[in-house]
Amino acid sequence: MRSVDAHLAEILATVRPLAPLELELERALGTTLAEDVSSPVPLPPFDNSAMDGYAVRAEDVPGTLPVIDDVAAGSDELRAVGPGHAVRIMTGAPMPAGADSVVPVEWTDGGTVSVRINRDVPVGNAIRRAGEDVQAGEVVLKAGTVIGPAQLGIIAGVGRRRVWVRPQPRVVVISTGAELVEPGAPLNRGQIWDSNSFTLTAAVREAGAEGFRAGSVGDDPAVLLDQLDTHLVRADAIITSGGVSMGAYEPVKEALSPLGTVRFEKVAMQPGMPQGFGVLGDDRVPIFALPGNPVSSFVSFMLFVRPALDKMRGLPTETAPVTAYVTAALRSPSGRRSYLRGVLSSDGTVAPVHGQGSHQLAALASANALIVVPEDVTEVPGGSEVEVIRI
Ligand code: AMP
Ligand code: MG
Repeated sequence: MRSVDAHLAEILATVRPLAPLELELERALGTTLAEDVSSPVPLPPFDNSAMDGYAVRAEDVPGTLPVIDDVAAGSDELRAVGPGHAVRIMTGAPMPAGADSVVPVEWTDGGTVSVRINRDVPVGNAIRRAGEDVQAGEVVLKAGTVIGPAQLGIIAGVGRRRVWVRPQPRVVVISTGAELVEPGAPLNRGQIWDSNSFTLTAAVREAGAEGFRAGSVGDDPAVLLDQLDTHLVRADAIITSGGVSMGAYEPVKEALSPLGTVRFEKVAMQPGMPQGFGVLGDDRVPIFALPGNPVSSFVSFMLFVRPALDKMRGLPTETAPVTAYVTAALRSPSGRRSYLRGVLSSDGTVAPVHGQGSHQLAALASANALIVVPEDVTEVPGGSEVEVIRI
């Protein structure tokens, strides 16, 4: 049997970061920056008021001053503030020449012809200085940054309309199994509703990629090959579930083994021992042939597909290990690494859930972590420190 680490290492040695492309900002959310982004101008570009109030010379207040002008944000014709004058000014409006402070409207009577200012104001009060956020030419985001809402904001804020990014990988998810029925349709004897395609497509999206659920192809290898042919043109990766074990009617194994570019292995883990991985077509699109049991396919996704998607996005694939104290004793088969489902609490403990079978999807849905038990450990006493993976 092959180790989990060896299987992951092969996957990571095969998949490549996606090539950068230039995208409109509207399409850049969730992508990874492929360039350093800098600002062509200082931000703010000019000294401006931080508050609604009056621009004055600090030495003139307190007192009553004539209001000689009114400036809104966006104004560009400004009268200078001479000695003894005030200009009514709004947040974001440029500071008029001559003024050295802004008096917030709350410190005044709010007058529009003349204004009564009741208290002293320090020089520089409520002025946002040019370049206070960003200097001209300064890098505001480095290549390798994932673009979230605030990152999108600063890219727009430095005036960019398009940006070079590594796109989100497009991942097609296909279920196999003659027993599968679309949720919403009635079940006949021997049938179950297809859950894996939903779980895996959602997991793809949560991993920062674009998931396309292609539905289920039964157990016919020819139908699977046909579907793969259809989807290969638009996919950066493909995930199948089911049809990779040792029984008969294993369409994924039957369809892909003869190609010679996809290998089927027994990986020393539980759940999820049968695993297929390889590449398809001239573009060498990675394909992850995951086992069909719902818990197995999800655990396999977390261990093998997620880091691969990180690499395709141009991100680091290593995550810092998390540990917790297990609340009950655990058992694990010798020679296989176990990933037991548990509930991780904020007090640093993890409680194994009831129902550790690889078909027990409800138990998985009640968990928020996988408890890792190494290959050479068969019994873990309650209270021990264990490694956990958040899910
Ligand atoms: P297989 O790997 O195809 O032998 O499937 C293993 C087990 O997982 C069987 O009990 C299948 O019915 C079940 N299974 C396979 N695919 C799915 C799916 N898409 N949704 C839910 N259960 C599945
Ligand atoms: Mg099957």
